Amino acid sequence: MDNLCEDQRMAPTPSATRLTVVYYNHTGDVSGAEISLLTLMTGIRDQVNVVLVAPEGELLERARQEGIQVIALRPITARMSTNPLKIARGTWDIFRTSLELRKVVSRLSADVIHANSIRAGLACLLLPKQVPQLWHVRDALPKNLVGWAIRRLASRMGVHVVAISQAIANDFRAGSWYEGEINVIYNAVTLDELSRGDLRAELGVAPDAFVVGMVGQITPWKRQHDAIEAFELFHRDYPDSELWVVGAPKFRPENVKYEAYLKRLVSEKGLSRYVRFLGFRQDVAGVMRAVNVLVVPSDNEPFGRVIVEAMLAERPVIGTRGGGIPEIIEDGVNGFLVAIGDVQAIADRLRALANDPERLKTMGRIGREQSLQRFAPEAHAATFRSVYVSILGSSMQLTTLETRPF
Ligand code: UDP
Repeated sequence: MDNLCEDQRMAPTPSATRLTVVYYNHTGDVSGAEISLLTLMTGIRDQVNVVLVAPEGELLERARQEGIQVIALRPITARMSTNPLKIARGTWDIFRTSLELRKVVSRLSADVIHANSIRAGLACLLLPKQVPQLWHVRDALPKNLVGWAIRRLASRMGVHVVAISQAIANDFRAGSWYEGEINVIYNAVTLDELSRGDLRAELGVAPDAFVVGMVGQITPWKRQHDAIEAFELFHRDYPDSELWVVGAPKFRPENVKYEAYLKRLVSEKGLSRYVRFLGFRQDVAGVMRAVNVLVVPSDNEPFGRVIVEAMLAERPVIGTRGGGIPEIIEDGVNGFLVAIGDVQAIADRLRALANDPERLKTMGRIGREQSLQRFAPEAHAATFRSVYVSILGSSMQLTTLETRPF
């Protein structure tokens, strides 16, 4: 908790007359959820006072660089599990964090607490009832007792739920265990418009080679193996083509094993010269502009920021009909939808695009236009501000809050 004082001294003084929203993230690592959170906080900070509470790590570092006020807290290591021992350990872990968070929230006189995941929401259990809680739900719940218990708890606690896609909202409503309202608010997504590096030149790839991209953490549910299988079929007709697998295994040791399996698969197929594992890249904008098309073969992707990033770079996306993907890809308009695991369909759609560069270009242009409209950070921030206002209650209450010093 010493970090609290240190960071408060270093942080710029927040404006004196606005709502204070405390954002809480349960991990210090950065993946899509945290990038979305950073985009929200930087977009909304001229409308509300923003304080980020999270364990030390990359997220806090990035927030500090953005000039966001941060407070470090212990990490939650608990994972969703049905193992009684793990449940007991997880509950204790969450309980301790919740006590710490309670102190932070009272000290800051927070008006709203915004939990950036379900696990973060659970750590808000012991927060004072008068501070409204928003749970930003970014994943489907496990299909077991733990999943039902979490829905019930959210209902009993009266939390306000925001889901990142209709698919995630439907999942949270399943079984009618959660009785409150859910707002669907898509993530805001931007692409570094200034990045103009030439990744093809850097990697020595010919300007006219057809490059298929797959971007995301390396983990079995993202199904990188399907991208490789589909690429093998496609590559028979396009021998100069390449597949770039971008991303790193994060969070779990199984993911490291999965990456080793993918590399073996590529080598067994004799594709080592054509499939590149580029690891985690900071310059995703450069990656998206260097590929011709993005494939997202995930098993129920909750949202898929990478889809929008590719579209902003005017690249069509071939994605699976599952999770939130069909809410972004319009089949045959800005990309293609295929069934989960249908590698033949992915290969067919790759051929269709490689054979028709004009169509590829048109789809890319449409995708960018739609994405600029649908996932703009300014509108996203304004929507969240109105959600905070609505969960705080009447406008009279808000006026009082807005004149209270920070
Ligand atoms: N990303 C990145 N470098 C990489 C791979 C991914 O910066 O090498 C970023 C990517 O640009 C996107 C985020 O990580 O913004 C992944 O978000 P997404 O919603 O696609 O997947 P998640 O990680 O949330 O499952």
